[in-house]
Amino acid sequence: MEKWKKILADAVCDPTELAEYFHLPPEDLHKVNAVFPCRIPRTMLKKIQSPGDPIFRQCVPDPAELTDSSELMNDPLGEIRFKKSEAIVQKYPDRCLFLVSGECAMYCRFCTRKRKFRQPFIITQQDIDEGLDYIANHKELRDVLISGGDPLLLDDDQIEYILQGICQNDHIKIIRIGSRAPAVLPERVTPKLIKVLKKYHPLYMNIHFNHPAELDGTVCKALRRLADAGIVLGSQTVLLKGVNDDPEVMRQLMWKLLENRVRPYYIFQCDLIYGTSHFRTPLQTGIEIVKALRGWSSGMANAHFVIDLPGGGGKVPIAPDYLIERCGKYRKYRNYCNEEYLYCDIDPA
Ligand SMILES: *Cc1c(COP(=O)(O)O)cnc(C)c1O
Ligand code: SF4
Repeated sequence: MEKWKKILADAVCDPTELAEYFHLPPEDLHKVNAVFPCRIPRTMLKKIQSPGDPIFRQCVPDPAELTDSSELMNDPLGEIRFKKSEAIVQKYPDRCLFLVSGECAMYCRFCTRKRKFRQPFIITQQDIDEGLDYIANHKELRDVLISGGDPLLLDDDQIEYILQGICQNDHIKIIRIGSRAPAVLPERVTPKLIKVLKKYHPLYMNIHFNHPAELDGTVCKALRRLADAGIVLGSQTVLLKGVNDDPEVMRQLMWKLLENRVRPYYIFQCDLIYGTSHFRTPLQTGIEIVKALRGWSSGMANAHFVIDLPGGGGKVPIAPDYLIERCGKYRKYRNYCNEEYLYCDIDPA
C-alpha cells in the first residue's frame, strides 16, 4: 500500500481516542461526532501544539457545532439548484465544477460540504462519464474546475481517466484542480501522481491553506514538486475566527505561500452553513485584513476577499473603499497609509 493510503487508513475517527489524547470530556466529542464525524490524519494531529490552537480548531469537533442559529443553511451555495448532472455544477457562463470525489483526507469543521460528512456522496463511474458527456456537449465551457470532496483522494488512474476525458475537448482550454491534500496529506503528492498531472497542461491547482503553521517541511516539498512540474499553484483560504482572523497571521500566511511558489487567490468569508457559526467573523474583519495587506505587502500577496453569495449568486469581491469624495471630474482617494490624493478623470465618451 502506498504511504498516503496508510496514513489515510490510520486517520483518527474515534472520538474516544481524541478525547484521551487531548484530555477532553468524551461525551462532548461523541455528541458532535454523531452529527458531524471527524477524521484527522495523525500527521496533522502531531502539528497541534495545544488544544484550541489554529490547527486544533480546524479539525477537532467542538460542542459549539451543535448550538447553531437558524440563519444557517444546509446548502448555502445553491449547488443543488445549479446541479446539471450528478457530478456537474454550472453557475457561470464559461466554467463549471466537476465533483469527482466525495472523500476528504481531513474533515474540516467549517466545511461547506459538512452536511455530507455522515454519508460522503459516492461518485460512480457512471456519474463521471455523464459529467464528461456534459463537458463534451457544452461548447461554451472553457475551464473545468475538478473538485469534490478532494479529487486527489482518487487513485492515480482514476485521476488520469478524468483529465484525459476532459482534455479530449478542444473547447476546454485550461483545467483546474481544487484540493486540500497537499496541505493535509502532502504524502499524496507522489512522483507517480506528478507524472500523471504534468501530461495535462495548462493545469492549475488551487490549494486550500488557512494558517502558516500548515506549511511545514513535508508540505513545502510537495509544493515544490507540483511547481517543478509546471502546475500553476494558487491558494484558497477561509477566514475563520480563532484561526486566521488577524492581519498579521494572514500576512504571514500569504508570504509563506509566495515563498513556496503559491500565488494567493481567494480569501473566503466563511459560508453560512449549519454547525459553523463559531467560526464566523464580521465582514469588517476581512476588510481590515485586505487593508492591512494592500500597499503594505507586495500586490502578489493580495488575495481577493470574496463572499460566495447564499442562494447561488456566485462570488462577489469585498473591497475597502478608497474613494473619499467626487467633485466634477475630480476624485479624492486615500492611499494605503491614509494620505489623500487627487485624481482627474475624463468625461465618459
Ligand atoms: C468558485 C466557482 C467557480 C470558479 O470560479 P472562479 O472565480 O473562476 O475561480 C466555478 N463554478 C462554481 C460553481 C464555483 O463556485
Ligand atoms: S478539504 Fe475542503 S471539502 Fe474537504 S472537508 Fe476540508 S473544506 Fe471540506
